[in-house]
Amino acid sequence: MNIRKTEILKKYIRLENKVFKLMSSICSKFCISCKVTCCTPVICKDILKSKWLFNVVRFTKNIENGRDLIKILDQHFKSGCESDKPCPFKSGRPVICGRYFCKDITSNLKSDFVRFLLFQLADIIPTFLDVKIDKKKIINLDFYNESFKISDKDSQTIKNNLNLALRKFNTIKKYMISPSEIVNKNELIKDILFLEKHSGLSILETISD
Ligand code: SF4
Ligand code: SF4
Repeated sequence: MNIRKTEILKKYIRLENKVFKLMSSICSKFCISCKVTCCTPVICKDILKSKWLFNVVRFTKNIENGRDLIKILDQHFKSGCESDKPCPFKSGRPVICGRYFCKDITSNLKSDFVRFLLFQLADIIPTFLDVKIDKKKIINLDFYNESFKISDKDSQTIKNNLNLALRKFNTIKKYMISPSEIVNKNELIKDILFLEKHSGLSILETISD
């Protein structure tokens, strides 16, 4: 893989890790003592449906093909996936893994505003993966394929979207950690508005909390 593609994948992986880490700081206190597990091999295998995610997993796990990935999954689930057993994929997880919040979590958050921020956080990765590059969504781009050449313009578009996603992440993180720092809700709304279309929430309703 050429340097340009490698740089982009690395940047994406850093972003994804940040998003999951912040999400886990909110959800882990519920998940750690949970008797149910929402992880199943069927969901994990969704990685194989996305060339982008599969390439991220290949890149981070140093694996060659889908069979290697299935082997990792088999090992992970052999003794039953428990809620305190970490996901075998630090990066490249299926979109649903970062978007699912059970009732225990959503009904026990401090406020509607925290819920709003959590949903916005969960939308950062899917929003980025939905961006179209030359009529193809990023989630379907096959970076490992030598015949897939990426132009300067497309590479810049992906990087710009990654920068935008990172900026949104930093804003959400700041307000999640220190809600008292919100001095201007309009500015905050403007900053994270681009995520709203996927959240299904009304910003004005939730922000009034
Ligand atoms: S998301 Fe909910 S159901 Fe799933 S492990 Fe966490 S607490 Fe349990
Ligand atoms: S979080 Fe990890 S183990 Fe759980 S379903 Fe997603 S990929 Fe599989």
